[in-house]
Amino acid sequence: MEYRSVSLKYKTGITNFLGRFRSYIISLEAQRIRSIVQMGFLFLVLIIGFEFYGFVAYHQSGGQGAYFSRPPGVEAFLPISALISLKYWILSGVLNTIHPSGLVIFLIILILGLLFKKSFCSWVCPVGLFSESLWQLGNKIFGKTITPWRWLDYPLRSLKYLLLVFFLYAIVWQMNIADLELFIYSPYNKVADVKMLLFFMNISEFALWTIGVLVLLSVVIKNFWCRYLCPYGALLGFLSMFSPIKITRNAETCIDCEECTIACPNAIKVHSAKKVISDECTACALCISACPLEDTLALKTSTRSKPIPVWKFGVAVILVFVLGTSLANVTGYWHNSISDSEYQRRIQEINKPVYDHNRGQVPKYGPED
Ligand code: SF4
Ligand code: SF4
Repeated sequence: MEYRSVSLKYKTGITNFLGRFRSYIISLEAQRIRSIVQMGFLFLVLIIGFEFYGFVAYHQSGGQGAYFSRPPGVEAFLPISALISLKYWILSGVLNTIHPSGLVIFLIILILGLLFKKSFCSWVCPVGLFSESLWQLGNKIFGKTITPWRWLDYPLRSLKYLLLVFFLYAIVWQMNIADLELFIYSPYNKVADVKMLLFFMNISEFALWTIGVLVLLSVVIKNFWCRYLCPYGALLGFLSMFSPIKITRNAETCIDCEECTIACPNAIKVHSAKKVISDECTACALCISACPLEDTLALKTSTRSKPIPVWKFGVAVILVFVLGTSLANVTGYWHNSISDSEYQRRIQEINKPVYDHNRGQVPKYGPED
């Protein structure tokens, strides 16, 4: 009896808390919600970076000092390896266990693109957040940002698609099943995440200059990297065209003030579209926030006329990540199969030529490598 009343009290407490949390989220302004989600994902990435740094430092020192386990989420930064794993899976039916979470995260991001447009870019990606902060800084310093002329903007925008085609064709398309297998189980791929960390820790002058130029360009031109150069963004832009959700304008109530177009960071002419059909739309909802009229501009699916509240859209984006990664975890396809002792050996000998690669071509290696 006593147990039942305690359990009832507990359940009521949780229900009340969830109810209040829901009311709080609903009351938040759309852009506040997006910022919270972006900061949450940034925090997650920073934790992953910190843990991974500790993991590599531990093995570099031969197992001295504090032990850090390897965070599987670090494989999110290996999209080429994930693409190769995906093709290998399609051709062979085998899910490799070298970078399983890399493939899982890659698939989650593709699903996000198909369902919720390029929401990954404006709700999740830390580079997208950095890019957004840079043009906001540019706006504060100079009062505005530069919008390149159309004749320049179009060819520049196609650069990211050319880079995507390069990765898809020159690297992945040309690889047959034997090449794919050779790459996946190569010493290089096994420590690709470690090599990436070491690249940034011992960054070359050339790479620093390149990043510096990109940062400066992003201060004066909105989303310079994302709009012109990011191949991941190009892939998501293509997939987003199939998304059932679109920014939709009610032409009957619209007063043609053009505030939505002014607010759009991706130079989309929202005020003249009934539906925004653009590979550049990241579902950031800045246009919705800028519109002075309620329900004139909204996220809608093609089948339902009811607007989707921005908070629900944000929750759905988070849910896709949580469900995808949890499913991978319970099915045992999240942690990779490389042992700590193997990592230690490889990290100690990482400067050997067998850990190099050239456009997906890895050096020949034997069973001992
Ligand atoms: S159209 Fe609206 S949601 Fe799409 S990128 Fe522009 S401001 Fe963001
Ligand atoms: S901000 Fe709203 S009212 Fe103004 S043009 Fe855009 S959709 Fe119409």
